[in-house]
Formats: sequence, structure tokens, C-alpha cells
Amino acid sequence: MHKKLFIPGPVEVRQDVLAQMALPMIGHRSKDASALQHRISDKIKKLFYTDEAILLSTSSGSGLMEGAVRSCTLKRAAVFSIGAFGKRWSEMAESNNVPVDLYEVEWGTATTPELVEKVLSTSQYDLITITHNETSTGLMNPVEEIAAVVKRYPEVVYCLDAVSSMAGTKIEVDKLGVDICITSTQKALGLPPGMAICSFSQKARERAEKVPNRGYYLDLLALYDYIEKKDYQYPSTPSLSHMFALDYQLDRIMEEGLDNRFSRHIEMAEYVRNWARQKFALFADERYLSNTLTTITNTQNIDVAALNKELGVRGYQISNGYGKMKDKTFRIAHMADCTLDEIKDLLSNIDDILK
Ligand SMILES: *Cc1c(COP(=O)(O)O)cnc(C)c1O
Repeated sequence: MHKKLFIPGPVEVRQDVLAQMALPMIGHRSKDASALQHRISDKIKKLFYTDEAILLSTSSGSGLMEGAVRSCTLKRAAVFSIGAFGKRWSEMAESNNVPVDLYEVEWGTATTPELVEKVLSTSQYDLITITHNETSTGLMNPVEEIAAVVKRYPEVVYCLDAVSSMAGTKIEVDKLGVDICITSTQKALGLPPGMAICSFSQKARERAEKVPNRGYYLDLLALYDYIEKKDYQYPSTPSLSHMFALDYQLDRIMEEGLDNRFSRHIEMAEYVRNWARQKFALFADERYLSNTLTTITNTQNIDVAALNKELGVRGYQISNGYGKMKDKTFRIAHMADCTLDEIKDLLSNIDDILK
């Protein structure tokens, strides 16, 4: 039996979206391929609230995270981490010989604008990375306040990991001054895994032009140049199946309406939070709770694996805690095309199993 996924990626994908992945192939150097890419970029710009260039990568989001830090750091990168995925960005920098310093805070707390100010005021850095929505801890960083600080440092290229939040909550990329905003298909966008998307600002491009040895496959400037010169095509063969599904799903997202979509996510998030506060406790700082997933502290010391096993019999799957928090927390995703009714259904099944 298929288990309906309430894990923070991959998410449940609607049948009509999945069907788009089964469409016949087209040539990746055809006019149709260029038109497909054009349509996707135009819609992604609306979703991202940006006028900057849009790049697609046939990789998961990690590919563009690695490409961004390697392609656009000339001097030194400052990586701000609030959990598992922030830390990964500094490992990517290190393994690409990019000079980097990691600024970590305790899991469950946010990156504060004060910390960003303190770090940037040293004038050591020309690129920073921020996690918008940390999928291990269920925390959404105060990016508006952080943006106000970063804007005072025009030499800094601002990279934002919005992998688990873009399309589930409003992120106004240009207004925030984000140069490279990254997401993946398999989270709040509601598609199968295998493609990543980012915005790529003029400032990021100018920086990349000065960086030698940007790698090959994940060289963001090479991707950009190819799109510009070859009318929206890619240096290597992209996953056209993902592009068919993305084109279709973006239409569905626009039909729902961005504001309606974001409101639906908040409604689901509030329902899960209230349930969690009554039965357990919330892991993350209450001021910065994620709208796309909730990390719940296992105050009842339940056997999360056993709960998930029983949920599986009933056709549902949730997530255990991430890494070191495996049994201390568990996570419920409420993103993409998930509905409040489905969330209510899941939680009443959990209640029923635990009683
Ligand atoms: C899932 C996730 C990633 C990694 O993305 P992939 O598409 O799996 O490479 C990075 N950051 C965050 C916040 C995530 O949730």
C-alpha cells in the first residue's frame, strides 16, 4: 500500500503532476525545449518575486548550494548555521577549497541580525549563506531583519537556502536583496526529487566572472551564459521530465493563487502546532516557527519508530528527528499540496494509535 508522505521531502505528489513525468521526450536542443524553459522561468520569477535570472539544475538542491558557494566566493564565505543543512554548506565550501568560517547557533534557535552584523563588520567576507527554513529543527529564520543588515554590505553576495520553504511561504527575493535563492523540486513545490532551481542576480554574475575555477557542471555562470547565448537551453541534457511536471505544477500553483497557497500553509502549520503544544512541545523558538514543517519534542518519550510503523499500516508516514535528534524529536511536514483535512486525518490517527 502507498503511504501518504508527511515527511519533509520528498513530499506527496499529485497523480496529475506525476503523469506529466511520463510524457514523451522532446529534443533538448529543440525550439520546444527553449519555449518550455522560457515558460518555467517566467513563472518561477513570479513565485520568487524576482526580476533576476533563473537557473535550473538537474541535481537536487545540494548541487546548487555547492555551485553557489564555489562560483561566487572570491575572498571568504561566512556560513550561518542553525541546524543540519546550514552546516552542510560549510562542508561544501571546505571540500571545494573555498575559504569559509562557520557560525553556528544552538539547534532550535535562529540566526540573529546581531550575529550577522558582528560577522560582516569584520570585512573578511564577500559571500554569506543563510538557511531560510531549517528542516532539522523546524525553524524559519527572520530573513527580513537579516536583510536589513546584509544590505549595508554591498560587496557581500547573499545566498539563501529556501529548499524546504519556497512555494510554501512568501519569500520576496529581490526585496530581501538575496542574490542566489535556492530551492528543490521535492519539497514545497510538490514534485518528485531531481531538479533544483535558483535565482542568480547581476551582482552574483559579476562576482562569478572574477572567480577562477568555478568547477564545471555546477558553474552557475556557465549555466547562465548558456541560457543567454543559446536561447534558454542548457550545456548538458536536463531532466525534461521534471521540466514538463514543473511547468504544469507552476500553472496549478498560480491557479491556486500565491497568497491562498501561503495562507493554506499557515493554517496547516497552526493546526499542527496547537496539537503539538497540547500533546508534546514545540522544539524551535516560538517566535520563528516554520510554516512548512513542525519539529515536535518527544516529551512523552514515545517510540517514534513504532508509531511510524503503525501509521504505515494505516497508509501514512511521518519523519523521525534529524540526525542527533532522531528519537528526541519527530517531524510532521505540512507543505506542497497537502490540505488541512489531510493533516487532521493524520493527527487523529496519531491520537488513536497513542491512546
Ligand atoms: C532538503 C534540504 C536540503 C537538501 O536539498 P536536496 O534537494 O536534498 O539536495 C537543503 N536544505 C534544506 C533546508 C533542506 O530541507
